[in-house]
Amino acid sequence: MQLLRGQSSIPVVVHVVWYSPEENISEQQIFSQLDALNRDFQAQNDLSIVPPGFRSLIASAGISFCLADMDPQGQPSNGILRRQTDIRQVASHRTGSQKTICYTELGGSDAWDPSRYLNIWVGSFGGLWVGEASPPESTPSNEDGIRIDPRYFGTTGTATPPYNLGHSLTHEIGHYLGLQHPWGAANDNKDCTQDDGIADTPLQSKSYFGECPASGFTCGTPDMTMNFMNWTDDACLAMFTPGQKKRMQEVLQGTRKGLISGDNRCMSTSTQAPAPIEANLQVFPNPGSGTFTLIRSNKSEAAHLYTATGQWMRSIPPHQNSFELTGAAPGLYILTCGNQQLKIIHLP
Ligand SMILES: [Zn+2]
Repeated sequence: MQLLRGQSSIPVVVHVVWYSPEENISEQQIFSQLDALNRDFQAQNDLSIVPPGFRSLIASAGISFCLADMDPQGQPSNGILRRQTDIRQVASHRTGSQKTICYTELGGSDAWDPSRYLNIWVGSFGGLWVGEASPPESTPSNEDGIRIDPRYFGTTGTATPPYNLGHSLTHEIGHYLGLQHPWGAANDNKDCTQDDGIADTPLQSKSYFGECPASGFTCGTPDMTMNFMNWTDDACLAMFTPGQKKRMQEVLQGTRKGLISGDNRCMSTSTQAPAPIEANLQVFPNPGSGTFTLIRSNKSEAAHLYTATGQWMRSIPPHQNSFELTGAAPGLYILTCGNQQLKIIHLP
C-alpha cells in the first residue's frame, strides 16, 4: 500500500471477522482496497468514463488512508485484526439491538477508539447487502465505522463483480464523512422533491442499482450516474464533486477531527505493490508516440479511438494489432473495446 506523505492520513483498522475460510481474506486483498481508496479520494482513479459535461466537476477529496501502525494502547500493529466466528453472516447478525460483528464477546471484534481510528469490519452479509456505514455523530460509538462484505472489498482475491473495483468502500466512507445519495435520504424518492443537500450534484430520482449506464436523465437534467454516491456498478463509478469534497472536509475538521489530529498512527513503510487489475485491453508504449501496439482479449471486437472530449476519431478493426497517432496533437486520447476503456497519452 501507498503512504502519502505531507498529507493527513486517516488511520484504518480492518477487522476481518470470518466464518468460512474464504471470508478470511488475504493481506493483499486488504492492501488492494487501501490503494483503491487512495486513488478514489484523490481523483487518481480511471476518470475516462466521466462525460465531458461533468468533467469540470471532478474533485480530489484530498483524503488519504493508511493501515494503523499502533493500537489504542500504543503497541505496534499492522492495522489488521482477524477473528474466527461461529456466526454465519455475521455482518447482518444482531444480538438484541447490537450489531454482533462489533463486539468481541458476541463473536465479533471490538472497535478501536472510533474517535481516532476508522474501524472497518469485513464480514459476510450473506448476499443481502454490500455494506453499511455509520454517519457522523452516530451512536452507539462502539459500532461507529463501516461494515462490508468480503466479496465487495478490494480489487483482488474474493472481490466479485460488479463490485470488484473497491468503490463500494469509497461509497460507504462517503456516508461516514457526511454524504448522502444523490437522490436524498429516502430510497423511494421518485418525485424529485428530495436532494442530498449538495449544490453541484444534480437532482436525481433514480438509484441506478445494478446498472452501468452510459448516461441517465431524471428530474429534468442529466444524472451524474458515475458519482461515487450512486448505486451504479463499480465499473461505472468515478468521481466526487467540489461540493461533496467540502462536506467531507467539514466533517473531517469537525465531528471526526480526531481521525487526523495528534500523532501519526500510519504504517510508515510500504508493504506491497498493489495487485494489477486484469487487463483486457492494453496499449504500449503508453505514454508513446507514432505507432502503438494494441492487445485486446476479445479479438472479434473492433476498438474505437476518441479524443479526450469524446469525439470519435476512427475504429480499429478486429485482428488489427497496431494503430497510429502520427499527425494527431499531443495529449490524452481514449480507446474503447466492448465495455473496456483505456487512456492513451500521446507524446509530442
Ligand atoms: Zn449508500
